[in-house]
Amino acid sequence: HRLVIAVDGTSGSGKSSTSRGVAERLGLRYLDTGAMFRAMTWWLLREGVDVLDAAAVATAAGRPAIESGTDPSRPTITVDGVDVSVEIRSDEVTGAVSPVSAVPEVRARLLELQRAVIGDGGIVVEGRDIGSVVWPQAEVKVYLSADPDARAQRRAAEQGGSDVASTQQSLLERDRIDSGRATAPLTMAEGAVHVDSTHLTLDEVIDRIVSLASG
Ligand code: C5P
Repeated sequence: HRLVIAVDGTSGSGKSSTSRGVAERLGLRYLDTGAMFRAMTWWLLREGVDVLDAAAVATAAGRPAIESGTDPSRPTITVDGVDVSVEIRSDEVTGAVSPVSAVPEVRARLLELQRAVIGDGGIVVEGRDIGSVVWPQAEVKVYLSADPDARAQRRAAEQGGSDVASTQQSLLERDRIDSGRATAPLTMAEGAVHVDSTHLTLDEVIDRIVSLASG
């Protein structure tokens, strides 16, 4: 069994850039579990399923075939064979993903897919519940956070200069739902190391996690 690094944390804390960077530095695979929840949400919206109707979402959740690539230099995600890497980043998907992710049947379905990808390890996995639920036996567990202002500014810049205030509102709303749900809420997993990235550069955060993995 090979190394598994779990990177959990709030929306916009830098999980994706950090996790990809760590995977590239250590020659590991990379899995973005948030992309899987986004892909499920994209598919539900396209099918016309009411994403606030938990029973309808639960019934539909078994249908789409979701596949994640694990190359950190080129993350891809497909639904029924169609690449939706760009579509899953839309405001529409971002606005609907947290209620979808709170549905236990959605989590159960994706949990199975996530564990299959992790397999015998050699991977950096980012999400909200990796260290607590998906892979509690991970050798390295990180809980990444940053001040809401820093998160909103980074995310707005990433999106090519969208409004910082509304970006912040959307991040905080997702955190509120992700932390308050009954199934696998966002929490700091037992044994996780808390890294606050507010005053750190991306490289500094990556260095810190790489040293946890080598230490
Ligand atoms: O990481 P990202 O912001 O792309 O995740 C999108 C959403 O997917 C989160 O707001 C959360 O609702 C859900 N998610 C989750 N559990 C994970 C990863 C993501 O519930 N392991």
